[in-house]
Amino acid sequence: MASLFHTPIQTLKGVGEKRAPLFGKIGAPTVGALLRLYPRAYEDWSHPFPIAMAPMQVPCPIRATVVSPPRETRIRKGMLLTKTVVSDGAHDMEVTFFNNPYIPNLLREGQEYLFYGKLSGTLTRREMTVPEFAPAESAPAVRPIYKQTEGLSSRIISQAVRQALLLLPDPLEDPLPDPLRQSYGLCHLRFALENIHFPQTMQALETARSRLIFEELLFLQMGLLQLKQRSRRETSSHAIADHREGFYALLPFPLTGAQKRAIDQSLADMTGQASPWPMSRLIQGDVGSGKTAVAAALCYCVARSGKQSALMAPTEILARQHFQSLSALLAPAGISVGLLTGSLPTAKRRAILEQVEDGRIQILVGTHALLGEGVSFSDLALVVTDEQHRFGVAQRSALAGKGNNPHLLVMSATPIPRTLALMIYGDLDVSILDELPPGRQKVDTYAIPSRKRDRAFGFLRRHIEQGYQCYIICPLVEEGQNDLASVEGYAARLREEYFPTVEIGILHGKMRPKEKERVMERFSQGEISILVSTTVVEVGVNVPNAAVILIENAERYGLSQLHQLRGRVGRGTVKSSCILVSDAQNEEALARLRVMCQTNDGFQIAEEDLRLRGPGDFFGTNQHGLPNLKIAGMASNMETLRKAQEAARSILRQDPSLSRPEHRGLRAQIRQLFAQAGENGFN
Ligand code: ADP
Ligand code: MG
Repeated sequence: MASLFHTPIQTLKGVGEKRAPLFGKIGAPTVGALLRLYPRAYEDWSHPFPIAMAPMQVPCPIRATVVSPPRETRIRKGMLLTKTVVSDGAHDMEVTFFNNPYIPNLLREGQEYLFYGKLSGTLTRREMTVPEFAPAESAPAVRPIYKQTEGLSSRIISQAVRQALLLLPDPLEDPLPDPLRQSYGLCHLRFALENIHFPQTMQALETARSRLIFEELLFLQMGLLQLKQRSRRETSSHAIADHREGFYALLPFPLTGAQKRAIDQSLADMTGQASPWPMSRLIQGDVGSGKTAVAAALCYCVARSGKQSALMAPTEILARQHFQSLSALLAPAGISVGLLTGSLPTAKRRAILEQVEDGRIQILVGTHALLGEGVSFSDLALVVTDEQHRFGVAQRSALAGKGNNPHLLVMSATPIPRTLALMIYGDLDVSILDELPPGRQKVDTYAIPSRKRDRAFGFLRRHIEQGYQCYIICPLVEEGQNDLASVEGYAARLREEYFPTVEIGILHGKMRPKEKERVMERFSQGEISILVSTTVVEVGVNVPNAAVILIENAERYGLSQLHQLRGRVGRGTVKSSCILVSDAQNEEALARLRVMCQTNDGFQIAEEDLRLRGPGDFFGTNQHGLPNLKIAGMASNMETLRKAQEAARSILRQDPSLSRPEHRGLRAQIRQLFAQAGENGFN
């Protein structure tokens, strides 16, 4: 199998110079990669309906015999229309095709076929337009549907996959050793690949799918556990002194119990009291739980110990905000904080880099720019990444590579259920901030249909008149073709129709960093009263005077994203509100909106999210910074994840470096999974 990952896709019949790049585009430049490109859906042809029983307007299979030979007619613009009538013995159905001259050869009178398509028409006159079809005796039970791209249909992909399966070596070596497969009841790789693409039955598909999900989660868990082992290969050379009392004296507020606990746990790691290894810790806290103060405490202790810290944020806005709050807090104590972002002018950048290199800057805050070639520290002892789900495992370790095995603190903005966190951040220890600073009020949340939007604007107006500010979140930047609200159009309409005298700003990802920064600055200074924005404000932004957030097309967002967005308000002492505008009717969307209205607790919301959508949804998105997973997104229960983790632990306990011959396949697969994430060092 491994060698198929070096076999170019052109090896397959029907894939020439023209199609090869298209296969590359869908992620299958090689035969091996094609086999790992699983269908996105299936058509179940195994239980055909009698015509009278078939549901209307939903794709379904019907078994019927051609009773009149196909008739061809030319209609306008030379279009070829082919019609035929089929019957299941009790009822007739008219079948129509467009521009397919082969139909008369393919559909023979008196023969029985399966037709797969959407039924329409009336009770007495059923019709099906351009169905898929196959002779009844040779029709497949289940058909794969691949994600297609222009010039590459699902059917062509499926033909290529059929050939690729024939190239599998025989016997095929399975990276999952026999005993492992037996104890978890998993099928062989060959069966899995054959049936994920061309399932014999729906049951066989399930068997294949559960093995492939298990396998992917297993590789992931093993990779993460190995990363953890690797970070523990060397003991830490950065013993940090505990200066927390000095830091507490600088703070304008007392820390919460949870913040103190997190600082305590981190300092135990960093002082070398808990273990000789460098710290690798995740701080999980709900929005507004005060993660920044925890990071600041650690940076302070590092600076007092004569060493440097780096803090990396996912956006320029956030980096700037952290820079400002850290400088305000720590500069009076004589600690120097620097800011490095991509948009810095060259001369300024050079000056900063110099001061980082000679150690004058003790805390360097920045964006990805911190990972740049020219950035080198004199003595980097602590790396902090904020809102970690935006950063991959690879970036985390790239930054760590700038120091000599520094301590690592990862701050996650999105609460995830503890069980899931322990698995996903398998390489990190976890501290949880489960307490909000005192005086915070719950954000009142309402879901309203769009026809009540005018009343919501009245509500915004009352807040603005009292000097508070509002966010409005739209899914698009520019006017689109559908019903989705766009930042630009929306802001224009607000100015014209509703708030002619109010200062309205816009913010979206297509603006230049400088512009974004300026808008954000004006918003935090209170010069802008309504900020119409895409979800770029989602993460971290802190403007305590903002009291209302209105979210358009709220059905578009997942629970944790809605919770993040809502976290932009209720950050000060004023009573704040969140208005979710949605006309969605589907049960899942409604359930999400209900959860939002019922609770403000991020951890509870995360549990609900997990219950509503299963853990796969988490792997299905690209929010977690994990390697690119292909099928784990289908994992529908925690049980699989738990088993995969158990298996990963047990294998690594017996064979930590995976050097036994029966683990050779496993080792290769883990390396391959993490190679895409730019991670190396799996050997
Ligand atoms: P998050 O955990 O979402 O990153 P921040 O660190 O941005 O939260 O903190 C949110 C706000 O709460 C900031 O304005 C911060 O100054 C304030 N804050 C943090 N800790 C406390 C505390 N213990 N008491 C009062 N306010 C606090
Ligand atoms: Mg934050």
